[in-house]
Amino acid sequence: MMIRVGVLGLQGAVREHIRSIEACGAEAIVIKRAEQLEEIDGLIMPGGESTTMRRLIDRYDFMEPLREFAGKSKPIFGTCAGLILLAERIVGYDQPHLGVMDITVERNSFGRQKESFEADLDIAHVGENYNAVFIRAPHIVEAGENVEVLAKYNERIVLARQGSYLGCSFHPELTDDHRITEYFIKMVKEHKGLA
Ligand code: GLN
Repeated sequence: MMIRVGVLGLQGAVREHIRSIEACGAEAIVIKRAEQLEEIDGLIMPGGESTTMRRLIDRYDFMEPLREFAGKSKPIFGTCAGLILLAERIVGYDQPHLGVMDITVERNSFGRQKESFEADLDIAHVGENYNAVFIRAPHIVEAGENVEVLAKYNERIVLARQGSYLGCSFHPELTDDHRITEYFIKMVKEHKGLA
């Protein structure tokens, strides 16, 4: 059976994720209306600008349907701004956005001189020599006991999983290395009982 993965299409790096999902052999759908969430097995929330994305989530009545989607433990992968949307706690802010992962994130946390950079990561369950692209990236300051840390860069957590939620600081859709998208699709298959 074909796996269908949606990409939240309100703002940000949507097309690149679609390409990466297709490269992994799954069906990819741009999600522009909340009803479309019913058609998919897993969701990617892309990088972009978390405050802008939040504004659009509210404007297009996505918050409640997203909470329902997450409440069914359907897999969600948040990349960069998407990671910020997943976090229960954001440094300097009183309220989270979706707030389903037991992590604290800090926005734009690699400093001005490091607005964007690439790093070579070793990633648990995924593999070695993964070239990660960071763009005004957040990092995970703290992770709860049910969160598995999959990768660190300079002692900072940059990829983590909690059950059916996966979040990373960088942009896995911007290179031709699709191993992390593949890993997420495996999570989706497992949730469907297909792997
Ligand atoms: N700095 C952005 C934010 O705070 C995230 C950057 C990104 O997604 N590339 O939302």
